[in-house]
Amino acid sequence: MPSERHEAKEVSHIENRLSVKPAGRPDPLLSQILRRLIRRSFPRLRRLPLTISWGVDDALLGYTVQGGDHLIQVNDCLRSATQRVLEGGIAHELCHIDADLRMGPYQRELAWRRYGESRWYRMREERTTERRVIELGYGSHLLAFIRFVRRLGYSFTREHGLLIPEIRRAVEARQSRNRQSDARAPAGA
Ligand SMILES: [Zn+2]
Repeated sequence: MPSERHEAKEVSHIENRLSVKPAGRPDPLLSQILRRLIRRSFPRLRRLPLTISWGVDDALLGYTVQGGDHLIQVNDCLRSATQRVLEGGIAHELCHIDADLRMGPYQRELAWRRYGESRWYRMREERTTERRVIELGYGSHLLAFIRFVRRLGYSFTREHGLLIPEIRRAVEARQSRNRQSDARAPAGA
């Protein structure tokens, strides 16, 4: 049922992050996508011990940290997704990790606790994360991701991130900004 499932989108970030789960077996396809995204857009994560596997069942994607090792897990329902869809979801997760790494341990602990306890905090966090995904140039991937999981029966509200029209507007705003700065750049520079 959509109403049951719609809560699933990452509401369980916090549980995923804090509970000790068996390490997932790295998946070659997912690892390839992950490495490419990091190389292109997440320089800070290049040296981070980070693996990705299928297997989370209480969220679409989530990540855990165990003794400094990061593990992204992807729900099996995304196995039939295109690469673009997977890129949208994984880029979102990488934006969370990137932001979390900028915090000190105490600050991060507090942020995770708030994420688990406060619906308002969660909403703010998810929406900020999606703006970052779009700024990095993955807005159309994010749209592909949302459309795909909606077809599976998930629904999205503001609590889960930006709404489709908001994403479209943000993608357009970014494109027109880029066009303007291209126009300003001296020819041949
Ligand atoms: Zn998220």
